[in-house]
Amino acid sequence: MDYDKLAEVYERLEDMPSKLGKRDILAKLFEESPASDLEKIVLLATGQVFPSYSEEELGVAEKMMRRAIEKATGHSETQVVEEFKRTGDFGLTAENFVKSTKQSTLMRRKLTVDKVFGSLKELPEAVGAGSQDRKLNIIAELISSATPKEAKYIVRTALGTLRIGVAEGIVRDAIAKAFGAEASNVEHAWNMMPDYGHIAAIAKTKGDEGLKKIGIKLGVSLQVLLAEKAPDLKTALEAFERSIIEVKYDGARVQIHKNRDKVNLFTCRLEEVTRQFPDIVKLVKENVHADTCILDCEAVGVDRHTGRPVPFQQLSQRVQRKHDIERMMEELPIQVNIFDVLYVNGRSVLDEKLSDRRDEMEKIIKVVPGKFQFTEYVITKDLKIAEKFYKHALEIGEEGVMVKNLDSEYLPGRRVGYWLKVKPTMEPLDLVVIGAEWGTGKRTNWLSSYVLGCRDPATGNFLRCGMMGTGLTDDQFREMTKKLQPLILEEHGRSVTFKPSTVFEIGYQEIQRSTNYDSGFALRFPVLLRDRSADKGPEEADTIDRLRKLYESQKKKS
Ligand code: AMP
Repeated sequence: MDYDKLAEVYERLEDMPSKLGKRDILAKLFEESPASDLEKIVLLATGQVFPSYSEEELGVAEKMMRRAIEKATGHSETQVVEEFKRTGDFGLTAENFVKSTKQSTLMRRKLTVDKVFGSLKELPEAVGAGSQDRKLNIIAELISSATPKEAKYIVRTALGTLRIGVAEGIVRDAIAKAFGAEASNVEHAWNMMPDYGHIAAIAKTKGDEGLKKIGIKLGVSLQVLLAEKAPDLKTALEAFERSIIEVKYDGARVQIHKNRDKVNLFTCRLEEVTRQFPDIVKLVKENVHADTCILDCEAVGVDRHTGRPVPFQQLSQRVQRKHDIERMMEELPIQVNIFDVLYVNGRSVLDEKLSDRRDEMEKIIKVVPGKFQFTEYVITKDLKIAEKFYKHALEIGEEGVMVKNLDSEYLPGRRVGYWLKVKPTMEPLDLVVIGAEWGTGKRTNWLSSYVLGCRDPATGNFLRCGMMGTGLTDDQFREMTKKLQPLILEEHGRSVTFKPSTVFEIGYQEIQRSTNYDSGFALRFPVLLRDRSADKGPEEADTIDRLRKLYESQKKKS
């Protein structure tokens, strides 16, 4: 197919506001695509050259694009920069400059989809010395052969800024419409193999039966099962006959594929991250005793000194990092928490019950404590035990818990209520530390169990609304003690009161009515999110009125 036909479709998609309209435009395009071009056209129509799960990236930076436009259209750097400033888009810059170049259109070679796709695909192959020049030449050559409209879309595709408003669901429905398949079958295929190019080719040649047969392929990430929110632990616990309660870690989901000596790692957005985590690859090679398998895990970054989990933002630096990986590996060690298995020794176990999948998982993993382990869990129906476990999860600095149905299968890409997350979900509150207790045991010399207070604007006093001893490392307790000790106003036995000064940002699960505290409210499962003292004084702390409002809004929701 000629590329100008695709460029025309892009233009129509850009102008078409309705989703159904977009679907129809795409369906017609797919239907009319010759079999040899179909996969390429479907990928290009979504702005891609490589399917989502692929590690390949085009790697074209704006500076390179600027130089390619200069080279292809004979304009100077200043002219390109000026035009870019005016239009804010390199696609439009290229379109306008190609329009104004004197070159006769007769001299242009007609571009085909095959040619554009093939050239773009060559971009990541250019590596090492002179690779930048080779990339530049590939793009410049395409722009030189392009019509103005084609140039616009080639540039945007190469930069990854196509933005024609074609979401995943639209492509799914367009494939279904083009080849008379059920949308649910296209969706099943997408959940198993996120590559609409390949899926369209199957839909065209084998129809619904072919789509249904698409199953797990090692080395190709499949969509992960998603969790739903539960309002509280009790509701979550009552949802299933048999449930397992696991710690919900605040890390990055990692799907591990092992195919003998080959290991691939993917994020839950299906991006390959194998290169970023040689430490995980090594752990898998040494401790997974199966020829082939797929594991579902949560990777957590661990503070080298305290052994405590670090916030996700820090770990995300490792996910994004493409160089200096050895140093990052040392600075931020990883802990892999394994919670599911989807495939073992050549066999999909998606349809098996979670309890059976866990048995399979336990058979093939050699645990390395603190590094490569199963998620911490408890199996119980007793709310008291579950609450104790939930508190423990918060105490070790994790997000909350996951309550999972032990009798459920694994449905890729679905949010069907088999997993329920329970975490402190209310908007955090900024509260003042107005008292504490001297600790016992290991905490003997530390001020722990902080009394939290909200502000009463009528009197300027602080009213007690909760006790919190969670979310701090030993070092933080030590530091807090140093900071709070000079603020002590009174001491009664182990209890102390402070001059109101320190402001904590507190997460919690719920606000309850309480007669224990003079505010009349108590926070359930409070946990320290941040010490806000550096940027907030007690006079800016949250008020009793805000607590009351949140309590009321919570009642409305339930
Ligand atoms: P959320 O992102 O809040 O919807 O929570 C779901 C995410 O929690 C999953 O995608 C995982 O990345 C993460 N997670 C942490 N611990 C677990 C666990 N034990 N089981 C399943 N997912 C977990």
